[in-house]
Amino acid sequence: MKTELKHLLERYAELERGVQELVSAQCREACELCTACCCRADLCEEALESPFLRMLHGRNELESDRYGFLTETGCALEIGRPPVCYEFFCVELLTDQPDDLRRDLLRILGRLPAYAGQNAYGAPLAEIMHEEELEQIRFQALEKQLQESFQALEILRTFYNTGALPNDADRVLHKITITGE
Ligand code: SF4
Ligand code: SF4
Repeated sequence: MKTELKHLLERYAELERGVQELVSAQCREACELCTACCCRADLCEEALESPFLRMLHGRNELESDRYGFLTETGCALEIGRPPVCYEFFCVELLTDQPDDLRRDLLRILGRLPAYAGQNAYGAPLAEIMHEEELEQIRFQALEKQLQESFQALEILRTFYNTGALPNDADRVLHKITITGE
């Protein structure tokens, strides 16, 4: 495996863990009480079909045909979940946010894995279906997107810890917002 790909996997995994930690802190309470499960086995299968995601989670089969990777304690994939799993927030969850700012920030947070992996090789990283193509992806562009995603993650972490946005927040977060629209 190319050193660049190994490095990319490590950086992406670090980003995914960071996003997951913050999303979980914002949503865990509501999701634990929820009876309308939004996980779907066909989405879980995307994590098996994607060579990049497989390299991250290292699994070869679903936990079950019916529930995919969903278990009684949540998703069995520590990392390597399809980006859509982070991007999706149900209407109730968004409506429950105290104000528009928190709603927008939550959406930006969930979009970071998708942003970091976009435009990798004529397709997002997670949608590249042939393993050999992972050696030819746009490593420099992906590194830049990862850096921007980490900057955004740090800003969001600061906001959730202090309730205030740093001065450069608009510039950094706007990039994530407009690119994803
Ligand atoms: S995102 Fe919404 S539908 Fe999905 S588990 Fe959480 S509260 Fe339930
Ligand atoms: S979060 Fe996990 S269990 Fe839920 S759809 Fe995604 S991969 Fe499947």
